[in-house]
Amino acid sequence: PPSRPGEDLRKDFPGLQNADGSPWHYLDTAATSQKPQAVIDAVTRAIGKDYATVHRGVYTRSAEMTLGYEAARRRVAAFIGGREDEIVFTRGATEAINLVAQSWGSANLQAGDRILLSVLEHHSNIVPWQLLRDRTGIEIDVCPLTEDGLIDLDAAERMLTPQHKLVAFAHVSNVLGSVLDVKRAAELAHSVGAKLLLDGCQAVPRLPVDVTALGCDFYAFSGHKLYGPTGVGALWTRKEILDAMPPWQGGGAMIDRVTFEKTSYAPAPQRFEAGTPAIVEAIGLAAACDYVAGIGLEAIHAHEARLVTQLREALRGMNDVTLFGPDQSAGIVSFAIRGVHPHDLGTILDEEDVAIRAGHHCAQPLMDRLGVDATARASFGLYSDEDDVAALLRGIERTKRIFG
Ligand code: PMP
Repeated sequence: PPSRPGEDLRKDFPGLQNADGSPWHYLDTAATSQKPQAVIDAVTRAIGKDYATVHRGVYTRSAEMTLGYEAARRRVAAFIGGREDEIVFTRGATEAINLVAQSWGSANLQAGDRILLSVLEHHSNIVPWQLLRDRTGIEIDVCPLTEDGLIDLDAAERMLTPQHKLVAFAHVSNVLGSVLDVKRAAELAHSVGAKLLLDGCQAVPRLPVDVTALGCDFYAFSGHKLYGPTGVGALWTRKEILDAMPPWQGGGAMIDRVTFEKTSYAPAPQRFEAGTPAIVEAIGLAAACDYVAGIGLEAIHAHEARLVTQLREALRGMNDVTLFGPDQSAGIVSFAIRGVHPHDLGTILDEEDVAIRAGHHCAQPLMDRLGVDATARASFGLYSDEDDVAALLRGIERTKRIFG
């Protein structure tokens, strides 16, 4: 029978056990996911018996590695519904967004232009734009949230003007799990002639993503949150936009011809991949795409939604708990317990083999909006199950007893 999300799949993930073989209740998948054995094996092969460089070798092993690396690009493109010549491998979402800001942003934005972000953005979808603002004099506007923590698209509609050249929103919030209505966001952005960039870090592991159907212009995500290795991620951009973007980092592999007088550049996407790429990691990411596709994102999404409902209902029943974000959160639940700092909760839970995240989650403007300095965050993955929720709830009860 096909594997189902939850308990059935835990055996595929060596990272979900403690050293003595007991279960580790890992509820920090939004920070980074554990890796299935299939990814570990693909990485081991690529860095072991298959290992060689790409693009430059005249020997067979390097030619094969080049095929493997380009096959990984095809796999990643197919996973999100794009074309392979529209995928740039980056170190992760952070680098992908910096690439757009520095290359597309520098070439297309100037003083007087505006961009629209939202209150719930991760710092990696804020700071690159501030750096661009400092260089170019553009203005940054910030879209507010609705009461239940969604990006307020009615407000976006009122705020957008023909001066806006870009709207950059998280597809799924890493703190609240809020899912963006991308179709409407794309319509709003395009109605004033702006492009839409989506930070897809938390969406690609949790929802079926088809960039063509979504109607966005840029899509950024990290491999390590999609059950793949660290050090690799991708930027998807429409071909005509990518072709017109200037290089952003110079070096080997991104050139056509170099002389001291003048250098011409390789076509996209190679133009944006200076230096020896993360070959092993890209191949590992392709294996992760295979693994996740084999289970299916519809099933993963439904599974995480059940766990979210279970956890939110239990927490709602506790009168000293504040729940943040919408009920229809994609796999992520942020909360606060009156009289207990999230860091203390996290420390006590650790004694119970429960791992959550406590802090500002790289979203300090959102913390300011919520009126807290930190939240406790439990986030699920395709391997999470009811035992994880039960262990978390037991740990919360114990913490409350300790704090009286
Ligand atoms: N955006 C969101 C929504 C995220 O959750 C994260 C990772 N926490 C990032 C961007 C940055 O990803 P990375 O650190 O892998 O580049």
